[in-house]
Amino acid sequence: MDFSELGLSPELLRAVSSAGYTTPTPIQQQSIPHVSAGRDVLGCAQTGTGKTASFALPMIDKLAAGRARARMPRSLVLEPTRELATQVEASFELYGKNHKLSTALLIGGESFADQERKLDRGVDVLIATPGRMLDLFERGKILLSDVRILVIDEADRMLDMGFIPDVERIVGLLSKNRQTLFFSATMPPEIRKLADAFLNNPIEVSVAPPASPAETVTQSLVVVAPEDKREALRRLIRSEDVKNALIFCNRKKDVDILYKSLTKHGFDAAALHGDMSQPKRTETLERFKRDEIRLLVCSDVAARGLDIQGLSHVFNFDVPYHAEDYVHRIGRTGRAGREGRSFTIAAPEDGKNVAAIQKLIKRDIPVITIPGIPTEELDFEGERSHRGRGRRSAKPVRQEQREPKREAVKSPRRDQKRDAPRDTTVVTPFPKRRSQPVDHDDAPNAPGFGDHMPAFLRRAVPSVASRG
Ligand code: AMP
Repeated sequence: MDFSELGLSPELLRAVSSAGYTTPTPIQQQSIPHVSAGRDVLGCAQTGTGKTASFALPMIDKLAAGRARARMPRSLVLEPTRELATQVEASFELYGKNHKLSTALLIGGESFADQERKLDRGVDVLIATPGRMLDLFERGKILLSDVRILVIDEADRMLDMGFIPDVERIVGLLSKNRQTLFFSATMPPEIRKLADAFLNNPIEVSVAPPASPAETVTQSLVVVAPEDKREALRRLIRSEDVKNALIFCNRKKDVDILYKSLTKHGFDAAALHGDMSQPKRTETLERFKRDEIRLLVCSDVAARGLDIQGLSHVFNFDVPYHAEDYVHRIGRTGRAGREGRSFTIAAPEDGKNVAAIQKLIKRDIPVITIPGIPTEELDFEGERSHRGRGRRSAKPVRQEQREPKREAVKSPRRDQKRDAPRDTTVVTPFPKRRSQPVDHDDAPNAPGFGDHMPAFLRRAVPSVASRG
């Protein structure tokens, strides 16, 4: 199929062609005609599949006729992280270069004044993280009654980050006379329920089975003692032809520690996490994209959805607590049909998490050994923290070992609901999936709320606000 068969305008076809695209990706083929026809769309697609263009291209054509009024955006794209929002704005700029549409980015960590000025001039496409969007709404700087197209992107990540109450509130502020496009990499029941609430008779499109990692990524697993993990990483990096790599840690503090350690050992590395200022994050990312830095040590939230062309490797310095994060992490490489390689460095006590990943992706991750580093065995029962060194065989996970008992999940969202004052906007008891303490990168003040401290938390509820 060719782009010209999708009913897009000549201006868009020129922009797509100068972006170097020749053939629409499967999600683009499936979505674009329906979005153009005004249908609601429920899309199940990973990042890296061309998802952004699947909504941005038809939106640009639909918005071409008409003008935005001051403070009254005509379309709204909600993204879970600042980086992803920035990237989506860049896509709108790229695809819309032959149109005269105005875009604005509302993200935390940037000046309110600049964002307000843009809103005053009239915005056709508003791209926002939920927190900053509500802040500006509460300040009376934005009116949502003209929004005719709403995109909720990365819905499962919004859920993970505790943004769903904010998203619900925003949707409640919009006119019912709108088109809604809803995308998620995975479709767990909570997300399906949300989609039912937000969408009107949607077309469902799905380009990969939920949570299937890109086929173009060659995955490997090493199991070593915790104290050998850094050495294992260094040896892997040296033995691989690493053009550029993301190295994931589970916690922000470990991002810093690992970054410093790599730098000390002479590697060309930088760090990316949510405690860094927004300008610093943007600058680091730009340098990485320009190939001025080879290794970027990062946490899940900071790196979520980053589209870095031709990334050759992903290293999981820590096994992610949540199997879905594994899929998101390794999806940073092997994009748009390119080959990529991922290495996961596990310690014995990560057995349960490795088992959960293998269950999710429905395959075993091939186990490799690193010359000079003792290989350990994964502990699937959680009965030991670390058995000591010297074991040489890391057995692949057998079927009967792959059914770890799930821990009862304590739901911080429910606690917040219980503790919150009665007039709060917390209305939906979505169970949180986090069962372990997680550093939420974009949440310096309130874990789980991104770059936004919701109003109800600001109203002095110490037991919630101080929860860390
Ligand atoms: P996304 O899933 O939207 O993050 O897109 C992933 C990458 O694929 C981005 O770098 C896009 O520029 C690229 N891309 C999107 N559509 C196409 C296409 N039809 N052909 C080639 N590359 C594409």
